[in-house]
Amino acid sequence: MKQQYKSYDESCAFLEACVEKYPDLITIENIGNTWEGRPIMLATISLHVAYAKLKPALLYTGTIHAREWIGHELAVEFIDYLLSNYDSNPEIFETLTENTLYIVPCLNPDGFEYSRKHFSFWRKNRRNNGDGTFGVDLNRNFEVGYKRTTNTSSNVYSGPHPFSEPETQAIKKFVDEHSNITIALDYHSQGNVFFPAHKFNHESEIEGTDLNSLCANMNYHIHKVTGRHYGINRGKPPTKLISGSGREYYYSKGIIAIVVEVGTRNIPDYIQNMSESVNENIPALLYALGESKSYSKSAPKRVEDFHIVSFSANSCEIAWEHEDNNVYFEIYKNLNNKMACNQSSLVGVTCNKYFIDENLESGTMYFYYIRAVDKLTKTFSPYAPKVKLKTLLSENEFSRTIFPHASDVGYVAEKSPEANHKHFGVNSLKVGVSEALGISYGVMTFDLSTIPKNAIILDAKVSLYPLNRVSAKVEKYGEWSLTIIDQETVPNIRDFDQVHNAKRIKSIGMSIPSEKLTQGIWSHWDCNEFERQMVQEELKHEKITFKLAGPTTLPVGRDSQIMVFDLGYGNQGGGLHYRPSIDIKYTIPSTKVALPLENSMTITPDGIITEYLACGFNENDEKIFGYLSFDLSSLPDPDEVVITDAWIELYNTSTVKKKVDIRYNVEFVDLEEFSYSDIKERERIEFIGYEVSSAQLGKKRKHHFIFDQYSKLALEEKQKNGEEAKFIIKPTSVLTRDHIINWASEKKHAAKLMIKYIKRRKFPLPAPVNLKTNIVNKLIKITWDKVEDEDLIGYYVVRNRWHAPKNPFDGVKLYAGPDNYTYDNFGSTKMDKYFAVFTYDNVPNYSLGSVIEYKAK
Ligand SMILES: [Zn+2]
Repeated sequence: MKQQYKSYDESCAFLEACVEKYPDLITIENIGNTWEGRPIMLATISLHVAYAKLKPALLYTGTIHAREWIGHELAVEFIDYLLSNYDSNPEIFETLTENTLYIVPCLNPDGFEYSRKHFSFWRKNRRNNGDGTFGVDLNRNFEVGYKRTTNTSSNVYSGPHPFSEPETQAIKKFVDEHSNITIALDYHSQGNVFFPAHKFNHESEIEGTDLNSLCANMNYHIHKVTGRHYGINRGKPPTKLISGSGREYYYSKGIIAIVVEVGTRNIPDYIQNMSESVNENIPALLYALGESKSYSKSAPKRVEDFHIVSFSANSCEIAWEHEDNNVYFEIYKNLNNKMACNQSSLVGVTCNKYFIDENLESGTMYFYYIRAVDKLTKTFSPYAPKVKLKTLLSENEFSRTIFPHASDVGYVAEKSPEANHKHFGVNSLKVGVSEALGISYGVMTFDLSTIPKNAIILDAKVSLYPLNRVSAKVEKYGEWSLTIIDQETVPNIRDFDQVHNAKRIKSIGMSIPSEKLTQGIWSHWDCNEFERQMVQEELKHEKITFKLAGPTTLPVGRDSQIMVFDLGYGNQGGGLHYRPSIDIKYTIPSTKVALPLENSMTITPDGIITEYLACGFNENDEKIFGYLSFDLSSLPDPDEVVITDAWIELYNTSTVKKKVDIRYNVEFVDLEEFSYSDIKERERIEFIGYEVSSAQLGKKRKHHFIFDQYSKLALEEKQKNGEEAKFIIKPTSVLTRDHIINWASEKKHAAKLMIKYIKRRKFPLPAPVNLKTNIVNKLIKITWDKVEDEDLIGYYVVRNRWHAPKNPFDGVKLYAGPDNYTYDNFGSTKMDKYFAVFTYDNVPNYSLGSVIEYKAK
């Protein structure tokens, strides 16, 4: 007999058998009877279960929607897993020692049985509505955000009043009486996505990082089993939120509440799909159960004022506050949002209230997280709100984040040739294949005209935000790939046939398989070196066009395999924040100049010889030094010059004796006047970089003393101060005598200072001043004084509820552009928060932020 879905009676019988076999581990109770008189069974599982209520607890609810059988099935399997393995698996043993699991395998037994026996697509409970219709959507019948609806035949009929149903009353009563519940997971199908709870506004919440990180860490365990990544998506409040759901009721009681949508069908192939869903969710559930104690009263307090102190191109310092001395701190770092915070991302463990991270990449986004950990019990605290940082660019780098114009981004579908032109600049990209649309491609053109045609591309990455609705069905099937296409073969990007037949130039990044294309988490296509060259080629057209393609054939029996990506435009677009983008980091070719020798001397114990350059050892084994100086005034404006390479070029005219090991190096000197002993006794030594040995001198005539990074900066400093660059060539050796190297002085071979530089602003413009907020048309309007400077490109405005943003990327982006005002669109006027405004130039260098704290009345 093949394994099939259990009936409600079977799972009740299973629970009773468990109580008999493991009386110290599990108790069961009926928390209420349904309309049809079935008991709603809840199991309590904990080590020494009699004390369960004294421990922090996770509440599991399954199958509140009748047809979503995974909740019921997973519950039974999870219980079985815990009870059968607790004494052999120390992780289960420890988790059940410290935490309690309350589990309702099926919160809607009447509906579930109706779905099993009569109509598999049934969703509601079995209330007799008295008008010939049956059922209330239990997940619209809770109190928070409850909306009264009157269409009793609707699948989302919310019932006559909040908590009108015995099922919702039962779970409400249980939750109200169990203040030890800290986490609630409500299992539904379908979509392979986590939906954390909401407070019905667009502002970040103090538990926001907790919610996302719990999902991300559960995802880590799911990925280990099946390689799948679930989406993590809080939707687009407030219009897109469901009303009267259990999740929001639990959240309103201070519980970390999440809906988990499992699988790709309500009632999938048991052996192939359901068992996979069950297997991948069990370790994730065990992890979540262990997290219950992190949100209990006995857990350490959340870290406060977690913020950036300072940052550069390669490092950053973050700091925080915490009153408790019995804790240490764990710091996690990720390169993408909503990634796991665990051993895989742990970068610091410290008792300090600060952390310095080094070896960062320039111009790169980082996400930092922190938890306090009790030194004795090892219990974690909740998370402080995460900190976001983009490191500065290196001195020779420029960057651009380019969004497509609304008219240049959309999708073209095979079966809607007339409608395709309307798919541009509104709402979303639908990419893949379906019976209704046929094959459907995303197309986007990015304007590259702000990048010089001769730029050298160092990094390129395209980002898109998948955002399926719950109704979208994406099976584990197919890949989504991004290809540069030849624009000349696609004169009209709104024409399906042209896009379909477009000449491919190169696919970029990795194709992303369906199970890793996760809604609510940015998808990135990163270019390798060869792909960067292809992007570079497109600079000459001043634009680049990409085609996004998914699978082109359907899995057997399915009618759609379409992934939806947010466009940011249109009434259902998520706004600026979710727009597709290409991020390009580049440099430009350098200009090479040769600065002629200004002065040269040879400094010997017997005196100084001008207009002559030599160095080495005299017959008394005393050092002879060469001196040379260069005039830097012919270089362009020092504030706009970055020296990328520098070296001194010298010609040796002497014969080098074999078997002597002398090394020559060059160092900077600041001396105005000097004698032989001044040079000889000098203590401060600043070599410019690389030395030349006598063996090398013997092999060839022309020699390069190449500057290291420090010396290049020193050279820029000299230029800025209007000083000459002066150097001493110094020999070093053990016991050598009578060995002099003469350096050529005739014009062609005379010493030169070779410099390669690029023109690039080094320093940011001043920060804006006179920041103000006021309320205009029920929105917060932020204004500031214009910065008058021809190099100004614009202002970057960011919002953060928790701390003053030190970095333009540390919070929600509100605006980037030349205006000196913006609105806090979607934001609430009733919450305290910080706004920061930064100026930027064409590099861009960002100024320090001007910050204003907004206080709600
Ligand atoms: Zn559901």
